[in-house]
Amino acid sequence: MASMNTEVSQEHYDMPDPYNLYAVEVLKFPAGWRWFSLNSSTTGRKKVPEGFARIEGAVSPTGKWKDRDPTTELMFVCRLCEVRQWFKRWAALMHGKCDVCWGTGREWFGWGKDTGHRYKQCTTCGGSGKPSDAIEATPSETRTS
Ligand SMILES: [Zn+2]
Repeated sequence: MASMNTEVSQEHYDMPDPYNLYAVEVLKFPAGWRWFSLNSSTTGRKKVPEGFARIEGAVSPTGKWKDRDPTTELMFVCRLCEVRQWFKRWAALMHGKCDVCWGTGREWFGWGKDTGHRYKQCTTCGGSGKPSDAIEATPSETRTS
């Protein structure tokens, strides 16, 4: 079967996934760990509190869940905004980039059959690609005792 037009600019491929990065960098999950299931439902059997997500994943050499290394199967529950905040700081401090457009100044805003991927000027950085100046120190960094 012919694949659909799923062309995405290279810059967006290069942007790391905030949750994968958070799991490895902050939670010290094994290198290469990636999430396969992100559940932020506030209803149903696997419900989580509003604004939280339950994230499950593993290391898989092929990128497929069925080929995962079962010893790396891990899950965590996090506040979505906390991960976004952490990623924002990380993108700014480590790369000097806006975390939404990853330095491209363009924000993805949909895909259409005729138009392909569509982008608009990034609303977070105003198209500069640079981090906004709202990067604040985390409480652990400002605590003096
Ligand atoms: Zn931006």
